[in-house]
Amino acid sequence: MNNSTKPGEKMKSREEYTNNLSIVNTSGVFINFISELYSMNKTAEKIVHNFNAGPSILPKPVFEEASRSIIDFNNTGLSILEIGHRTQLFQDVIDEAIALIKELMLLDDEHEVLFLHGGASSQFFQMPMNLLHDDAKAAYTDTGVWAAKAIKEAALYGNVDVVCSSKEQNYNHLPKSFHVDPASAYLHLTTNNTIYGTQWQDLSLFYNKGVPLVADMSSDILSRVLDFNRFELIYAGAQKNIGAAGVNLVIVNKKCLGKVYRKIPSMLDYRNHIEAGSLLNTPPVFAIYVCLLTLRWLKSIGGVAEAEKQNYIKAALLYDAIDAHDLFNGTVAKEDRSKMNVCFTMENTDLEKEFLSLCKEEGMIGVKGHRSAGGFRVSLYNAVPYESVVAITDLMNYFAKKNV
Ligand code: PMP
Repeated sequence: MNNSTKPGEKMKSREEYTNNLSIVNTSGVFINFISELYSMNKTAEKIVHNFNAGPSILPKPVFEEASRSIIDFNNTGLSILEIGHRTQLFQDVIDEAIALIKELMLLDDEHEVLFLHGGASSQFFQMPMNLLHDDAKAAYTDTGVWAAKAIKEAALYGNVDVVCSSKEQNYNHLPKSFHVDPASAYLHLTTNNTIYGTQWQDLSLFYNKGVPLVADMSSDILSRVLDFNRFELIYAGAQKNIGAAGVNLVIVNKKCLGKVYRKIPSMLDYRNHIEAGSLLNTPPVFAIYVCLLTLRWLKSIGGVAEAEKQNYIKAALLYDAIDAHDLFNGTVAKEDRSKMNVCFTMENTDLEKEFLSLCKEEGMIGVKGHRSAGGFRVSLYNAVPYESVVAITDLMNYFAKKNV
């Protein structure tokens, strides 16, 4: 029963109900105001440039549509937050999201698309639980904190062969010369190292190792064209290029499943999720919906190829600004520079503090580097507008000239 309806009183229609509630009317106005601010990329006072590493900026039309759907999803009179996950309404959402992933990533029919709980960190253990025998061996590349966490979890299920590591050099480059035992169950890589700002540019290095490939693509998925079908399994937290935090994407070649003999809890067995179409239990409905909106946006701008082109231009602009001034030091090997997370430092820590507070004054959010890397990290995910990159490079040029 509606809590404003006394027993015996006729239940009010949703429209009557909302019209009679000033708070709802006010929040309607508020939503309009908020989405207007978003569409201008502004707070009430100033422009905001969001360089957060994740959760991070999403496209403005996604915020606008998601806000509207919280009030009224697809003119149903229902909020997206209150629809059942077993309704046709949500089935349409998840079906379209899966179809868009397949289309945008050009996946073949062997590859299944799953939306799962637990973030990318849960894949560090769920994946080996499904793919690695107790007595088998998996090869891992140790290229950052997230890769190291993946290694630690895999060791709970089988033998781990760390085939290369740049840990001793604070992960400032990607080690390219390594041997992989052809008997390895799989070779794991982190395509983009979010904290340190390195990214494997040429994945053909992995393609000819002769073992199945598994990749954590959390921070560069959908940002560049890759032959995704070459991977046995891909996983990624949604909160950078895919959508809202709370869900992760798993793409798995179904042929690689069912080969380990251990008992796998139902919720952790990929085969159950495939069979249930990612609806084994209540999925994160809203987070998946935001993924759908983001995927629609990506398709509308020209897909992954167009995103790649724009990401290349944005990253080049920022790296050029770093290289143009002695004041800034790029922290990683040039050939391994990430187009998603651009990291740099200054020799003088007082100047670092001054630059950070200047960024804050200018509405630049998320510029401070991760505590393991220090300095600055500017994340340039798909939704970061070119104008924001121009704004930060202008500020860098100004600051460098002021401090020659
Ligand atoms: N892998 C990479 C490359 C990441 O960047 C992150 C988070 N930033 C993770 C894994 C962990 O993701 P989650 O917080 O979704 O577990």
